Order: sequence, then structure tokens, then C-alpha cells
Amino acid sequence: KYDSVEDDENDLVERPPIVTIMGHVDHGKTSLLDRIRNSRVAAKEAGGITQHIGAYMVEKDGKKITFIDTPGHEAFTEMRARGAQVTDIAIIVVAADDGVMPQTKEAIAHAQAAEVPFIVAVNKIDKPQANPDLVKSQLAEMGITPVEWGGEYEFVNVSAKTGEGIDDLLETILLQAEMMELKANPKRKAKAVVIESRVEKGKGPVATIIVKNGTLKKADSFVCGKTYGRVRLMIDDLGKPKKEVLPGEPAEITGFDEVPMAGDVLVAVESDKIAKETAEKWKEFLEEREKSKSTKATLEDLQKMILEGELKKLPVIVKADTQGSVEAIKGSLAKLKNEEVKVDIIHSDVGAITENDVILAKASEPHAIILGFNVRPTSGAKNKAKQEGIEIRTYSIIYDLIDDVKELLSGLMTPKVTEEVTATIEVRDVFMVPKVGAVAGCYVQDGVVHRGDFVRVIRDGVVIYDSKLASLKRFKDDVKEVGKGFECGIMVEGYNDVKVGDILETYRKIEEKAKFEG
Ligand code: GDP
Repeated sequence: KYDSVEDDENDLVERPPIVTIMGHVDHGKTSLLDRIRNSRVAAKEAGGITQHIGAYMVEKDGKKITFIDTPGHEAFTEMRARGAQVTDIAIIVVAADDGVMPQTKEAIAHAQAAEVPFIVAVNKIDKPQANPDLVKSQLAEMGITPVEWGGEYEFVNVSAKTGEGIDDLLETILLQAEMMELKANPKRKAKAVVIESRVEKGKGPVATIIVKNGTLKKADSFVCGKTYGRVRLMIDDLGKPKKEVLPGEPAEITGFDEVPMAGDVLVAVESDKIAKETAEKWKEFLEEREKSKSTKATLEDLQKMILEGELKKLPVIVKADTQGSVEAIKGSLAKLKNEEVKVDIIHSDVGAITENDVILAKASEPHAIILGFNVRPTSGAKNKAKQEGIEIRTYSIIYDLIDDVKELLSGLMTPKVTEEVTATIEVRDVFMVPKVGAVAGCYVQDGVVHRGDFVRVIRDGVVIYDSKLASLKRFKDDVKEVGKGFECGIMVEGYNDVKVGDILETYRKIEEKAKFEG
């Protein structure tokens, strides 16, 4: 392993912190990145023209900070899921006129899961409706208490529009970096992380890397994930050619044999021969690891790890229909433990199970299981979970959820099956029939719906009504069942507020008795 050489204390020097900006959509991540980028004097001095290479560096009081230019926690966690932690400090942006929103909480969960410290930038304070104190109290309620209220978290008021507070934010980042004592050894061969890649006509594979340790030099041979190469061209974010890239610095480089992936680790080695050989070995190792990792999320695997005492914490993500149920579930899960294993809730929130939840689950080691109460995965989340081997379990009774986790912890997991989902149905039309009620014009996406089935109305991934079918028709006729790919008319007992776009999930209850007999 080329990257496991110990550095001599005397060779270590401070390196710039690497920062990622995350937060809810429209809260100003891109504007903030643009504002910070345009604030740098270097651009003017060098006469350079800003190149969007995926990261850039600014200088403040003689110290440098590297910003990753793709905002958002998806990229951040996708990279982490591939084994690379590139970010040192996260900035969580919250718009002062909007407050904490679902993706704010997600972003915080992602930073916390990665154990990356974060600073809260309260943006848009130029707006007359801005209420930075509300943001503070909302976050304080989640345990993110501002320093000025006796907590540990730095909050900085900023405006990406006017530039107010930007200096303050940069200073706060540098202070945080100082406490972290980020050091690297520029004398050794480089270890870097790929943050973006593509193929360019005439250049071949191109990647933006950030050097985490050592110095990357022109003509260095390297291995990178499953590929290898030799550094041909290096340019910085002002388009200037570079001969070497120091720790903490980003650069766009060419010279890869094949396109690497974001999150791949690049390690410079002594020769092309070693690069090629090592790449072969890494390929095997990485493929092996991918294989072993992808199986770690099933309940059987988790259970095995629990029984063999290999698991200290069982990571879970909790999504539920209301804040009240989220709190109730969290409270009950916190009390569950067996001798050695405890439940680690890495994220919890109200609403449908999203692709982001799956990404977050995947980044956890071992992969987290996702527990939904009265909510369902979006179709994107369902597909991603299947692809990544992430376990999603949904419940309509809190007790069942808790009981399943309890049994899992005791190594006795036999998931309780209390119902069978018969069909997933899309509402495409709604007809109000006088004196009868709302008839939903439906399309059966999957399964077979039967006349006596129970039914749940699901809107935006959240179960909003649970009852029985009042009627099932094809054209004007009552029918016993309707299968996948067919249209039908459905009335839900006691419910007349069905809307176009709702999903109906029909199901049958399985009797306890039948379970033991069968
Ligand atoms: P992102 O989705 O988080 O990247 O958000 P954007 O940077 O695209 O910003 C969303 C909207 O908010 C845009 O219309 C911006 O012009 C606006 N905006 C961003 N920052 C500020 C700010 O500090 N003040 C005001 N008034 N508007 C802002």
C-alpha cells in the first residue's frame, strides 16, 4: 500500500481546508459559491479567466481555502460511499427568509454521518423578511446550538447578493481549520481524490482532483481507482498550466488510461510499471470489496454480524408521516439495546423515503436500514435501493416497527408479515358522482386488485388514508379483480378527497393464525 507510509513530523505543513457547501434547494448555495469565487483578488492579479473545473481556491489574510464547486450533499455522500472523504468542513446554507427545510436536515445528517464539522451560513439576510434568529432557534431545537447561545456551532449571517458577511464566513472557516490542524507533507508523492471526470475530444479522460497529501508533479506515474496513467497536463481554476499541485489544491489533469470515477483515490508511484501493476491489484481488491459491501445490508447479514458480535451500532434511518410519530419512534428506538449493540439513528424526518435517504444509508458502514412508518419510497428511491442492496421496511403500526428492530438486535429476526400488498394503482382521473361520491379513474401499475381488498391512499409518499375498497369497476360493471396494465374505477370507503396523482396501495391482511400454521 503506497499511501500508508508514515510522514515525518518535521515535514508536515499546514494545508488549506477543503470545503463543501450544502443546504436546501434555492437557499443560495450556487450564489454563495459564485460570490466567494468572484471575491478573490487572485483572478484579477493573474489576469486569469475563471475556469469551472469543479473546485476553486480563494485566499484570505494570506491563507488559502479550497471550495468544491458542486453544491449539494448527493455528490458529497456518493463520493464518501466510494470510500473517499474529501471534505474537511461543510457549510450548511439556510435562507433566513425560509428557515430550516427538509434538505437542510438531510444536509446536516450527511455531514454528521461523515463526521465532518460544519458551519451554518444564514443567507439572504439582505431580505426584509429575513429572520436569522428563527433559523437559530430552529436549529438549536435540533441540538445545533449556536456558540453565542452557549453551544458549539458557528453561525454566520451572510448575503450572497450584497456580499455582506462573506469575509466573516471565510474567517470562520479558517478558524475552524486551525483548530483541526490540517497538515500534510508536500515532500512525499501525492495522494489525491477525484471529484469530477469526463472525456474530452482531443484530450481523452480529464479529471479534477484535489491533492490531500504530498505534491503531484507533471509526468508523475499514478494509480487511480481501477485505472492508472501519467500526469500530462495540469491546469488550475484560472486556466493556468501548473508544474506541481500542493496539498489542499485542486487541478484539472489529463493522462489517464481510462476515465476514473468521482471518489476514486489517486496515488502517485515510482514508475509506469508499478502504476500498471498496482492498478491491476487494486481493481481486484476494489471489485472484491464492492462485492462484500453490497451484501452487508440484508437483514440476514446484519443479524449474522450481531450474533458474531461484530456490530456495535445498528445504523437506521427513520421516515414517518408526522413529526409526532418520528419523535415516538426515536424515543422507543433509543431505549432498545441488547448488551453490545445499540440503535444509531443517522437520520430522521417527516415525508416519503427519497433517493437521498438511500444514498445516506449506503454511505454508512455497515449500510443503514431504512424504516418507514406510514410512508413509502419514491419510485427513484425504490430503484436505487434495489440497485444498491439497501433494505427498506415500511410499517403501519409503530409497535411492529419497534418489535422488528428489537428482534433484529436480539438476533432473532423473523420479519413479521402481517399483510400482503396486492396492487399499486395510479389515480389518473377523479369523477364526482352526485349522491355517490368520488370515483377514481385508475391504472393498475403492478399486481392485481381484488374487490374485498384494503386500500391506502398515498400522496407524495405519505399514507394519508387507510380503509377498504367501496367498489371496483371496469367501465360500468362491478368486477372481482383487475390486473396490471388495466384501467378501473375505484371508490375508497369513507374518502372522497382522492386526487389525480395519488397512489392507491391495496392489501390483504394475513391472520396471525395463518402465519403460525403456514
Ligand atoms: P441553490 O439552489 O441553493 O444553489 O440557490 P441559488 O444560488 O440558485 O439561489 C436561489 C435564488 O435565491 C436565486 O434567485 C438567487 O438570486 C437568490 N439568492 C441567493 N442568495 C441570495 C441572497 O443573499 N439574497 C437575496 N435577496 N437573494 C439571494
